[in-house]
Amino acid sequence: MDAELRLRPDTVSRSQHVVVQQHGIKGRILVASKFFAEGDLLMWERPLLAVQPEASVECQVILDMEGSWDCSYRYPGLFYWAALQSLSLSEEDQSLALQLHRPKGEAGEDVRAVLEALGMDEGLEAMMEDLLQIWIFNSLRSDDQLVLPLLMAMCSHDCSPNAFWSLHGEKIELRAGQDISEGEEVTISYLGAGDLCLPSLERQRRLQVTKDFLCSCQRCSSLWDDVRVFVCPRCQGMARAQKLATCVGPFVALGPTVEATAETVSWSKLRGAVVELCSETSEALQCDYCGPLGSVEAAAHLVPEAEFAQLLQASTLSSVLGGIPLEASEGLGQEALPLLWRAQRCGLAAEHWVVEALRGYAAEEEIEQRPSLLRARCAATGNTPRERLKRARLRVALAKAILQTASPSISSMAEVTENLHLAREVLVHIFGASDPEVLELEPLLAAEKGSENSCVGL
Ligand SMILES: [Zn+2]
Ligand SMILES: [Zn+2]
Repeated sequence: MDAELRLRPDTVSRSQHVVVQQHGIKGRILVASKFFAEGDLLMWERPLLAVQPEASVECQVILDMEGSWDCSYRYPGLFYWAALQSLSLSEEDQSLALQLHRPKGEAGEDVRAVLEALGMDEGLEAMMEDLLQIWIFNSLRSDDQLVLPLLMAMCSHDCSPNAFWSLHGEKIELRAGQDISEGEEVTISYLGAGDLCLPSLERQRRLQVTKDFLCSCQRCSSLWDDVRVFVCPRCQGMARAQKLATCVGPFVALGPTVEATAETVSWSKLRGAVVELCSETSEALQCDYCGPLGSVEAAAHLVPEAEFAQLLQASTLSSVLGGIPLEASEGLGQEALPLLWRAQRCGLAAEHWVVEALRGYAAEEEIEQRPSLLRARCAATGNTPRERLKRARLRVALAKAILQTASPSISSMAEVTENLHLAREVLVHIFGASDPEVLELEPLLAAEKGSENSCVGL
């Protein structure tokens, strides 16, 4: 029943409980052949190759070129470096890599330019293009490296994945983010944690651009977008926006099909489009209790939403949304807090991705208010595996924020303890006890114990 996939011996855990199957639309997929509980290790695998940006001359040539690349270069420099490295894999390993999915096509101009810049044989073009596509479509990206698995490359994407991968030395581990029943497909996210918090249309666009497929997971195919929620002006309950009925991120959906980049659409035109859309679609915004809201009420919410979406296009957006605090703040500065108040006055709910992002930026800027902003973000996060991961990271940020305040009280130290323990539990489930993110918590837990003792001493 395994769809054929050759693997190197001793590079994959031999539990045999995660198998490759052929799926009518998706191609090869991974399926659990027994029940796995949340946090269970599904499998591990040693990647065929792992690449990091290195100080080698060749790598530097490629990465330097990246800065001056025009649009004929299709991908980030690291992918060309990875493809180049794979040219020197053994013949056997190359043939294993060539089993992986990729679109077939002629070598691009960029591939020729890279080979030429490095003085390499022109005869390698076709193979380099093949390997480049294999990396684009099958590699997994961590903070500092890019790895190419074989078996785990069969895992499909889902915007609400049931499994998570993490790197442990030379192994990639795959763990269940929730209970997975026998026969259920195992899915991971090809998007970063922050990208998963973006609206459906923007997630779909990113996947289309990077992986060339239209995501049709449950979150993406729902008519209502779970990160675009508003406060109903009639009953103060929750109102939801129809997925296609407005502007999201740099894109605007004008009716069911048209997409235009915000860069090329002026604000007045965008505003006009959203207003028009609200008048055409009787259910642009719908309250859970009151039903469809009128076009005027819908526009009063969706126009400011579009304006905020256009504003929030900074490169740091994804890390703020993922619950990972920014190191060097490139956020909105002192604008963040007033913008947050405005967004809330405009009826964007606490769970709306714009409010989430603004709270993230404001927390970076306003040290005094950081704990309360992070508490609000924890409270607005739901209970799917991806949201539990996000909340765990927010809890760590909250604990750190409290520890940074001048003189934390005994009750706030209890809050630190509780948040660190809850975060640790989730992170161990998702990534395993030896994961760097888990190990990073140890000194914090120790510091918290230390100050607890000194409180007792007083
Ligand atoms: Zn999706
Ligand atoms: Zn209502």
